[in-house]
Amino acid sequence: MARRLPVYLLLDCSESMIGGPLESVEAGVHSMLSALKRDPHSMETVFVSIITFDTKARVVTPLTEVYAVRPPQLSAHPGTAMGAALTLLQDSIKKEVKQTTASQKGDYKPLIFIMTDGVPTDEWRGPAKSLQNVQPKIANIYAIGCGDEVDFTALREITDNCIYLKGLTPANLKDLFVWLSASVQTQSVSVNPDQLVSLEKLPLKTGMELISPDNIPKLSEKPRLFFHILCSREHNHFLARYTYSPEKDCYLSEEPLPLQEDFFSEGTAKGAPIDTSTLYSPPTCPFCGAETFGGCPKCGAVFCLHSGDTEVDCPSCDAHIRFSKDGTGSPLIIDGSKG
Ligand SMILES: [Zn+2]
Ligand SMILES: [Zn+2]
Repeated sequence: MARRLPVYLLLDCSESMIGGPLESVEAGVHSMLSALKRDPHSMETVFVSIITFDTKARVVTPLTEVYAVRPPQLSAHPGTAMGAALTLLQDSIKKEVKQTTASQKGDYKPLIFIMTDGVPTDEWRGPAKSLQNVQPKIANIYAIGCGDEVDFTALREITDNCIYLKGLTPANLKDLFVWLSASVQTQSVSVNPDQLVSLEKLPLKTGMELISPDNIPKLSEKPRLFFHILCSREHNHFLARYTYSPEKDCYLSEEPLPLQEDFFSEGTAKGAPIDTSTLYSPPTCPFCGAETFGGCPKCGAVFCLHSGDTEVDCPSCDAHIRFSKDGTGSPLIIDGSKG
């Protein structure tokens, strides 16, 4: 039996990927698999596993021969559990990759691609460290940071091969997956797939840049803000997204996105508290059209609010709350034990 070339794809499915980016990643994985399935050599040797991470990490596709891999449907959840993903990767490698022993030729060393657009929200240093000692040994790890909110300092601790993808645009993501398939193909046809093909033989696409230790992109000081708003009429959640505008020196609202029902199915991730005074133009509730939002002083839920509504029941905990007419001052709990 031919030796296998295991390829692990680790994909960030945090809430900042919701919408266009996640669809582009899905399309990218799809075309990568098609390209590998058209290539006789890859068909023979390449095995693919897909691991996603957000609130937690999960194996979407265990290590499978490439022709049998079905393109996964990805869904987003809060958080960026990169540490959990690195731990799961090590468990999978130990379980799935055959070691070379005195009596058997094992698999080739696995190739790892980690793709993320943010900052890890869990403990990742320990798992990043133990990754270096996993058996069978890893051939190479490519960490691909997409956009301006990536913690490249963290990625550099995982691998020296950090690639910066400038912007999560459909074109960039498409090119990225073309490059990924080319890397896997090149590795699979090399004389010795255990010996790593150097990046010089894998020219990066426009929009991709190799990060060197002395040009690590700085984390944006004003990252995008995301928070979840509960519709007070329909009781569904939507995602409010804010982008900082240097010209106006405040955060402007982007189009809000309704969240899938399973968004919170695996729990919530703690976000940093948001200073609402820097926010401008509240998002319109996509469910009921309410023009603004308020926070519950009792349970902390943020919910949509029709302007002019001064007394409402919190849709999350039922506390009866009074807002001042002009929207200034803190909301008051009138009756916290309603019901
Ligand atoms: Zn609403
Ligand atoms: Zn409440």
